[in-house]
Amino acid sequence: MKFETKAIRLQTDRSQHKEHSTPLFPTSSFVFDDAEDMRAKFDGEVQGNIYSRFTNPSVAELETKMAALEGGEKAIATASGMSAIFTCFASFLSSGDHLIMSRAVFGSTFRVTENYLLKWGITFDFADPGNVNSWTDLIRPETKILYLETPSNPGLEIIDLEEVAKICKQHNILMVVDNCFATPYLQKPLKYGADIVIHSATKYIDGQGRVLGGVIVSTADLIAEMIPFMKNAGPSLSPFNAWILSKSLETLAVRMDRHCSNAHDLALRLEMEDGVKSVRYPFKKDHPGYKIATKQMSGGGGIVAFEVENGLSQGQRFLDAIKMCSLSANLGDTRTIVTHPASTTHSKLTVEQRAAVGITDGLIRVSVGLEHIDDIFNDISQALKASMNQY
Ligand SMILES: *Cc1c(COP(=O)(O)O)cnc(C)c1O
Repeated sequence: MKFETKAIRLQTDRSQHKEHSTPLFPTSSFVFDDAEDMRAKFDGEVQGNIYSRFTNPSVAELETKMAALEGGEKAIATASGMSAIFTCFASFLSSGDHLIMSRAVFGSTFRVTENYLLKWGITFDFADPGNVNSWTDLIRPETKILYLETPSNPGLEIIDLEEVAKICKQHNILMVVDNCFATPYLQKPLKYGADIVIHSATKYIDGQGRVLGGVIVSTADLIAEMIPFMKNAGPSLSPFNAWILSKSLETLAVRMDRHCSNAHDLALRLEMEDGVKSVRYPFKKDHPGYKIATKQMSGGGGIVAFEVENGLSQGQRFLDAIKMCSLSANLGDTRTIVTHPASTTHSKLTVEQRAAVGITDGLIRVSVGLEHIDDIFNDISQALKASMNQY
Protein backbone atom coordinates (compact mmCIF):
# COMPACT_ATOMS: atom_id res chain seq x y z
CA MET A 1 0.00 0.00 0.00
CA LYS A 2 1.11 3.55 -0.73
CA PHE A 3 1.43 6.25 1.95
CA GLU A 4 -2.04 7.77 1.44
CA THR A 5 -3.72 4.36 1.49
CA LYS A 6 -1.94 3.17 4.65
CA ALA A 7 -2.91 6.41 6.39
CA ILE A 8 -6.56 5.59 5.67
CA ARG A 9 -6.81 1.80 5.62
CA LEU A 10 -4.62 0.50 8.47
CA GLN A 11 -6.94 -0.13 11.37
CA THR A 12 -7.46 -2.11 14.55
CA ASP A 13 -10.31 -4.59 14.81
CA ARG A 14 -13.78 -3.14 14.47
CA SER A 15 -16.36 -3.80 17.17
CA GLN A 16 -19.41 -6.08 16.86
CA HIS A 17 -21.30 -3.14 15.30
CA LYS A 18 -18.98 -3.16 12.26
CA GLU A 19 -18.67 0.63 12.21
CA HIS A 20 -17.05 2.01 9.05
CA SER A 21 -15.20 4.91 10.66
CA THR A 22 -12.56 4.46 13.37
CA PRO A 23 -14.18 3.47 16.69
CA LEU A 24 -13.20 5.14 19.96
CA PHE A 25 -12.44 3.09 23.09
CA PRO A 26 -12.70 5.42 26.09
CA THR A 27 -12.05 2.88 28.79
CA SER A 28 -9.42 2.86 31.51
CA SER A 29 -9.37 -0.94 31.85
CA PHE A 30 -10.49 -4.17 30.13
CA VAL A 31 -12.27 -7.27 31.41
CA PHE A 32 -10.98 -10.84 31.45
CA ASP A 33 -12.86 -14.04 30.64
CA ASP A 34 -11.63 -15.88 33.73
CA ALA A 35 -8.74 -16.24 36.15
CA GLU A 36 -6.61 -18.08 33.60
CA ASP A 37 -7.16 -15.38 30.92
CA MET A 38 -6.22 -12.73 33.46
CA ARG A 39 -3.11 -14.62 34.57
CA ALA A 40 -1.92 -15.22 31.01
CA LYS A 41 -2.36 -11.60 29.98
CA PHE A 42 -0.60 -10.24 33.07
CA ASP A 43 2.17 -12.75 32.48
CA GLY A 44 2.54 -11.59 28.85
CA GLU A 45 1.98 -15.16 27.65
CA VAL A 46 -1.11 -13.94 25.80
CA GLN A 47 -1.23 -10.50 24.20
CA GLY A 48 -4.23 -8.46 25.25
CA ASN A 49 -5.40 -5.17 26.70
CA ILE A 50 -5.24 -4.85 30.48
CA TYR A 51 -5.18 -1.18 31.39
CA SER A 52 -5.09 1.94 29.17
CA ARG A 53 -1.84 3.22 30.64
CA PHE A 54 -0.28 0.14 28.95
CA THR A 55 -2.30 -0.34 25.77
CA ASN A 56 -5.63 0.75 24.29
CA PRO A 57 -7.08 -0.10 20.85
CA SER A 58 -7.56 3.56 19.87
CA VAL A 59 -3.96 4.29 20.76
CA ALA A 60 -2.80 1.11 19.02
CA GLU A 61 -4.38 2.19 15.74
CA LEU A 62 -2.45 5.46 15.77
CA GLU A 63 0.78 3.60 16.64
CA THR A 64 0.30 1.09 13.82
CA LYS A 65 -0.30 3.83 11.29
CA MET A 66 2.60 6.01 12.41
CA ALA A 67 5.05 3.09 12.37
CA ALA A 68 3.96 2.21 8.83
CA LEU A 69 4.08 5.80 7.58
CA GLU A 70 7.58 6.44 8.97
CA GLY A 71 8.84 3.08 7.69
CA GLY A 72 9.59 1.82 11.20
CA GLU A 73 8.65 -1.47 12.86
CA LYS A 74 6.85 -0.17 15.94
CA ALA A 75 5.62 3.02 17.57
CA ILE A 76 4.62 4.36 20.97
CA ALA A 77 2.09 7.16 21.25
CA THR A 78 2.40 9.56 24.18
CA ALA A 79 0.45 12.44 25.73
CA SER A 80 2.48 15.19 24.02
CA GLY A 81 5.55 15.72 21.90
CA MET A 82 7.55 16.59 25.03
CA SER A 83 6.53 13.37 26.79
CA ALA A 84 7.70 11.43 23.72
CA ILE A 85 11.08 13.19 23.90
CA PHE A 86 11.31 12.61 27.65
CA THR A 87 10.36 8.92 27.29
CA CYS A 88 13.24 8.49 24.88
CA PHE A 89 15.77 10.28 27.12
CA ALA A 90 14.61 8.51 30.28
CA SER A 91 14.79 5.11 28.60
CA PHE A 92 18.29 5.39 27.13
CA LEU A 93 20.26 7.85 29.29
CA SER A 94 21.78 7.10 32.71
CA SER A 95 23.82 9.16 35.10
CA GLY A 96 27.29 9.69 33.60
CA ASP A 97 26.06 9.52 30.00
CA HIS A 98 26.55 12.31 27.48
CA LEU A 99 24.13 13.74 24.92
CA ILE A 100 24.88 15.77 21.82
CA MET A 101 22.08 18.07 20.78
CA SER A 102 21.74 20.33 17.77
CA ARG A 103 21.69 23.93 19.00
CA ALA A 104 18.52 24.57 17.01
CA VAL A 105 16.00 22.52 19.01
CA PHE A 106 12.55 23.26 20.39
CA GLY A 107 12.64 25.44 23.55
CA SER A 108 11.19 22.87 25.96
CA THR A 109 13.54 20.16 24.64
CA PHE A 110 16.43 22.38 25.63
CA ARG A 111 14.88 23.20 29.02
CA VAL A 112 14.28 19.51 29.88
CA THR A 113 17.92 18.85 29.10
CA GLU A 114 19.27 21.80 31.03
CA ASN A 115 16.91 21.60 34.04
CA TYR A 116 16.50 17.84 34.51
CA LEU A 117 19.04 15.72 32.63
CA LEU A 118 21.90 17.82 33.99
CA LYS A 119 20.52 17.49 37.52
CA TRP A 120 20.55 13.71 37.09
CA GLY A 121 24.19 13.63 36.03
CA ILE A 122 23.69 13.51 32.26
CA THR A 123 25.85 16.06 30.47
CA PHE A 124 25.31 17.55 27.03
CA ASP A 125 26.97 19.60 24.33
CA PHE A 126 25.40 21.73 21.65
CA ALA A 127 26.30 21.07 18.04
CA ASP A 128 26.29 23.70 15.30
CA PRO A 129 23.46 22.79 12.88
CA GLY A 130 25.35 24.55 10.06
CA ASN A 131 28.46 22.37 10.34
CA VAL A 132 27.81 18.64 10.66
CA ASN A 133 31.51 17.76 10.30
CA SER A 134 32.26 19.51 13.58
CA TRP A 135 29.92 17.14 15.42
CA THR A 136 32.52 14.35 15.50
CA ASP A 137 34.71 16.51 17.78
CA LEU A 138 32.00 16.51 20.46
CA ILE A 139 31.80 12.72 20.74
CA ARG A 140 33.09 11.13 23.95
CA PRO A 141 33.20 7.48 25.00
CA GLU A 142 30.10 8.12 27.14
CA THR A 143 28.06 9.76 24.34
CA LYS A 144 24.82 7.80 24.00
CA ILE A 145 22.45 9.95 21.93
CA LEU A 146 22.75 12.50 19.18
CA TYR A 147 19.56 14.52 18.95
CA LEU A 148 18.46 16.86 16.18
CA GLU A 149 15.58 18.62 14.47
CA THR A 150 15.39 19.31 10.73
CA PRO A 151 13.92 21.67 9.57
CA SER A 152 14.40 23.40 12.92
CA ASN A 153 11.94 25.57 14.79
CA PRO A 154 11.76 28.52 14.09
CA GLY A 155 14.99 29.17 12.13
CA LEU A 156 14.32 26.46 9.47
CA GLU A 157 17.87 25.18 9.61
CA ILE A 158 18.46 22.02 7.58
CA ILE A 159 20.72 19.19 8.73
CA ASP A 160 21.99 16.42 6.44
CA LEU A 161 20.45 13.25 7.91
CA GLU A 162 22.65 10.88 5.89
CA GLU A 163 25.86 12.59 7.06
CA VAL A 164 24.83 12.57 10.71
CA ALA A 165 23.76 8.92 10.44
CA LYS A 166 27.26 7.98 9.20
CA ILE A 167 28.85 9.64 12.24
CA CYS A 168 26.41 7.91 14.60
CA LYS A 169 26.92 4.46 13.07
CA GLN A 170 30.67 4.84 13.21
CA HIS A 171 30.61 5.69 16.93
CA ASN A 172 27.69 3.49 17.91
CA ILE A 173 25.51 6.40 19.04
CA LEU A 174 21.69 6.47 18.85
CA MET A 175 20.51 9.05 16.32
CA VAL A 176 17.21 10.63 17.36
CA VAL A 177 15.35 12.98 15.01
CA ASP A 178 12.42 15.26 15.86
CA ASN A 179 10.50 15.07 12.56
CA CYS A 180 7.69 17.38 13.64
CA PHE A 181 8.08 20.05 10.95
CA ALA A 182 8.32 17.65 8.01
CA THR A 183 5.93 14.81 9.01
CA PRO A 184 6.54 11.35 7.51
CA TYR A 185 4.81 12.54 4.33
CA LEU A 186 7.71 14.89 3.48
CA GLN A 187 10.68 13.21 5.20
CA LYS A 188 11.48 9.74 6.57
CA PRO A 189 14.58 9.99 8.78
CA LEU A 190 14.73 6.20 9.40
CA LYS A 191 15.40 5.72 5.68
CA TYR A 192 18.52 7.88 6.02
CA GLY A 193 19.84 5.97 9.00
CA ALA A 194 18.18 7.56 12.04
CA ASP A 195 17.43 5.11 14.87
CA ILE A 196 14.46 6.87 16.47
CA VAL A 197 11.97 9.38 15.09
CA ILE A 198 9.94 11.61 17.39
CA HIS A 199 6.82 13.65 16.67
CA SER A 200 4.81 16.29 18.35
CA ALA A 201 1.53 14.99 16.88
CA THR A 202 -0.02 18.21 18.22
CA LYS A 203 1.21 19.96 15.08
CA TYR A 204 0.68 18.60 11.55
CA ILE A 205 -0.49 15.11 12.57
CA ASP A 206 -3.58 16.62 14.20
CA GLY A 207 -3.34 19.51 11.78
CA GLN A 208 -6.45 21.19 13.12
CA GLY A 209 -5.25 22.56 16.45
CA ARG A 210 -7.40 20.34 18.67
CA VAL A 211 -5.36 17.94 20.78
CA LEU A 212 -1.88 17.32 22.17
CA GLY A 213 -0.06 14.12 21.35
CA GLY A 214 3.35 12.62 20.69
CA VAL A 215 4.73 9.59 18.85
CA ILE A 216 8.02 7.66 18.88
CA VAL A 217 8.83 5.37 15.93
CA SER A 218 11.73 2.93 15.77
CA THR A 219 12.72 -0.73 15.50
CA ALA A 220 10.79 -3.28 17.56
CA ASP A 221 13.88 -3.76 19.79
CA LEU A 222 14.36 -0.08 20.62
CA ILE A 223 10.63 0.44 21.17
CA ALA A 224 10.67 -2.55 23.56
CA GLU A 225 13.31 -0.70 25.61
CA MET A 226 11.00 2.33 25.92
CA ILE A 227 7.77 0.48 26.75
CA PRO A 228 8.60 -0.08 30.47
CA PHE A 229 8.99 3.69 31.01
CA MET A 230 5.73 4.30 29.14
CA LYS A 231 3.83 1.69 31.17
CA ASN A 232 5.23 2.61 34.57
CA ALA A 233 5.86 6.36 34.43
CA GLY A 234 2.61 6.86 32.51
CA PRO A 235 3.06 9.53 29.81
CA SER A 236 0.37 7.58 27.92
CA LEU A 237 -1.88 9.13 25.29
CA SER A 238 -5.60 9.37 26.00
CA PRO A 239 -7.81 7.19 23.75
CA PHE A 240 -9.80 10.27 22.71
CA ASN A 241 -6.72 12.13 21.51
CA ALA A 242 -5.48 9.00 19.76
CA TRP A 243 -8.80 8.67 17.94
CA ILE A 244 -8.62 12.30 16.78
CA LEU A 245 -5.02 11.83 15.62
CA SER A 246 -5.73 8.57 13.83
CA LYS A 247 -8.59 10.21 11.91
CA SER A 248 -6.33 13.17 11.17
CA LEU A 249 -3.74 10.94 9.51
CA GLU A 250 -6.32 10.08 6.85
CA THR A 251 -5.98 13.61 5.45
CA LEU A 252 -2.28 14.22 6.21
CA ALA A 253 -1.08 13.86 2.60
CA VAL A 254 -3.61 16.25 1.07
CA ARG A 255 -3.16 18.76 3.88
CA MET A 256 0.64 18.71 3.57
CA ASP A 257 0.47 19.19 -0.19
CA ARG A 258 -1.56 22.36 0.32
CA HIS A 259 0.54 23.57 3.28
CA CYS A 260 3.63 23.21 1.05
CA SER A 261 2.18 24.95 -1.99
CA ASN A 262 0.72 27.81 0.06
CA ALA A 263 3.99 28.25 1.98
CA HIS A 264 6.17 28.16 -1.13
CA ASP A 265 3.90 30.66 -2.87
CA LEU A 266 3.90 32.96 0.18
CA ALA A 267 7.72 32.82 0.40
CA LEU A 268 8.06 33.89 -3.25
CA ARG A 269 5.49 36.67 -2.93
CA LEU A 270 7.00 38.02 0.34
CA GLU A 271 10.36 38.41 -1.32
CA MET A 272 8.92 41.15 -3.54
CA GLU A 273 7.43 43.13 -0.62
CA ASP A 274 8.80 46.40 0.73
CA GLY A 275 10.05 46.19 4.30
CA VAL A 276 11.09 42.52 4.04
CA LYS A 277 14.82 42.00 4.52
CA SER A 278 14.95 38.27 3.80
CA VAL A 279 12.68 35.24 3.43
CA ARG A 280 13.58 31.72 4.54
CA TYR A 281 11.95 28.61 3.09
CA PRO A 282 13.78 25.27 2.72
CA PHE A 283 12.70 24.80 -0.93
CA LYS A 284 13.65 28.34 -2.02
CA LYS A 285 16.90 28.23 -4.01
CA ASP A 286 18.69 30.81 -1.85
CA HIS A 287 18.18 28.80 1.39
CA PRO A 288 21.61 27.63 2.60
CA GLY A 289 20.20 24.13 3.09
CA TYR A 290 18.37 23.99 -0.26
CA LYS A 291 20.43 21.13 -1.72
CA ILE A 292 20.11 18.96 1.37
CA ALA A 293 16.43 19.84 1.87
CA THR A 294 15.53 18.87 -1.70
CA LYS A 295 17.52 15.63 -1.30
CA GLN A 296 15.86 14.42 1.90
CA MET A 297 12.42 16.08 1.75
CA SER A 298 9.70 15.76 -0.88
CA GLY A 299 8.29 19.23 -0.10
CA GLY A 300 9.48 22.32 1.76
CA GLY A 301 6.88 22.14 4.55
CA GLY A 302 4.37 24.67 5.81
CA ILE A 303 6.59 27.11 7.71
CA VAL A 304 8.00 30.32 6.27
CA ALA A 305 10.27 32.67 8.24
CA PHE A 306 10.96 36.21 7.14
CA GLU A 307 12.75 39.17 8.56
CA VAL A 308 11.35 42.68 8.72
CA GLU A 309 13.82 45.54 8.24
CA ASN A 310 13.35 47.36 11.55
CA GLY A 311 13.93 44.64 14.12
CA LEU A 312 12.06 44.12 17.39
CA SER A 313 9.74 47.15 17.22
CA GLN A 314 8.57 46.48 13.66
CA GLY A 315 8.10 42.80 14.48
CA GLN A 316 5.63 43.72 17.22
CA ARG A 317 3.91 46.40 15.11
CA PHE A 318 3.50 43.80 12.37
CA LEU A 319 1.70 41.43 14.77
CA ASP A 320 -0.55 44.27 15.96
CA ALA A 321 -1.56 45.08 12.37
CA ILE A 322 -2.53 41.48 11.49
CA LYS A 323 -6.29 41.14 10.88
CA MET A 324 -7.09 37.59 9.76
CA CYS A 325 -4.16 35.35 10.70
CA SER A 326 -3.97 34.16 14.32
CA LEU A 327 -1.49 35.27 16.95
CA SER A 328 -1.07 31.90 18.64
CA ALA A 329 1.60 29.57 19.98
CA ASN A 330 0.70 26.53 17.90
CA LEU A 331 1.79 25.60 14.39
CA GLY A 332 0.66 23.15 11.73
CA ASP A 333 -2.98 24.23 11.95
CA THR A 334 -5.48 24.81 9.12
CA ARG A 335 -5.39 28.45 10.29
CA THR A 336 -2.39 30.58 9.44
CA ILE A 337 -0.49 31.56 12.60
CA VAL A 338 2.08 34.32 12.89
CA THR A 339 4.57 34.61 15.74
CA HIS A 340 7.49 36.87 16.61
CA PRO A 341 10.03 34.59 18.38
CA ALA A 342 12.35 37.38 19.64
CA SER A 343 9.58 38.97 21.76
CA THR A 344 7.89 35.70 22.83
CA THR A 345 9.27 32.11 22.76
CA HIS A 346 12.91 33.24 22.66
CA SER A 347 12.68 36.55 24.59
CA LYS A 348 14.71 35.19 27.54
CA LEU A 349 17.76 34.55 25.36
CA THR A 350 20.36 37.23 24.65
CA VAL A 351 20.66 38.68 21.14
CA GLU A 352 23.80 36.53 20.64
CA GLN A 353 22.08 33.35 21.87
CA ARG A 354 19.18 34.02 19.51
CA ALA A 355 21.54 34.67 16.59
CA ALA A 356 23.22 31.29 17.24
CA VAL A 357 19.92 29.52 16.49
CA GLY A 358 19.07 31.71 13.51
CA ILE A 359 16.62 34.07 15.24
CA THR A 360 17.08 37.77 14.52
CA ASP A 361 15.02 40.47 16.25
CA GLY A 362 12.89 41.09 13.16
CA LEU A 363 12.16 37.41 12.44
CA ILE A 364 8.50 36.49 11.91
CA ARG A 365 7.47 32.83 11.76
CA VAL A 366 4.44 32.04 9.66
CA SER A 367 2.78 28.65 9.99
CA VAL A 368 1.02 28.81 6.67
CA GLY A 369 -2.49 27.39 6.89
CA LEU A 370 -5.00 26.07 4.41
CA GLU A 371 -6.94 29.30 3.77
CA HIS A 372 -6.74 30.64 0.20
CA ILE A 373 -3.22 31.87 -0.47
CA ASP A 374 -4.51 35.25 -1.69
CA ASP A 375 -6.19 35.92 1.65
CA ILE A 376 -3.11 34.82 3.61
CA PHE A 377 -0.84 36.99 1.49
CA ASN A 378 -3.15 40.01 1.55
CA ASP A 379 -3.34 40.00 5.34
CA ILE A 380 0.43 39.70 5.76
CA SER A 381 1.05 42.31 3.07
CA GLN A 382 -1.32 44.89 4.62
CA ALA A 383 0.23 44.30 8.08
CA LEU A 384 3.70 44.82 6.60
CA LYS A 385 2.62 48.13 5.04
CA ALA A 386 1.02 49.27 8.31
CA SER A 387 4.12 48.28 10.30
CA MET A 388 6.37 50.23 7.88
CA ASN A 389 4.45 53.53 8.23
CA GLN A 390 6.32 54.67 11.30
CA TYR A 391 9.84 54.37 9.90
C1 LIG B 1 5.71 21.62 19.60
C2 LIG B 1 6.98 20.92 19.41
C3 LIG B 1 7.43 19.99 20.34
C4 LIG B 1 6.68 19.69 21.62
O1 LIG B 1 5.46 19.11 21.37
P1 LIG B 1 4.19 19.20 22.37
O2 LIG B 1 3.18 18.34 21.71
O3 LIG B 1 3.82 20.64 22.46
O4 LIG B 1 4.64 18.68 23.67
C5 LIG B 1 8.62 19.32 20.08
N1 LIG B 1 9.34 19.59 18.96
C6 LIG B 1 8.94 20.49 18.05
C7 LIG B 1 9.77 20.74 16.85
C8 LIG B 1 7.76 21.19 18.24
O5 LIG B 1 7.37 22.10 17.33
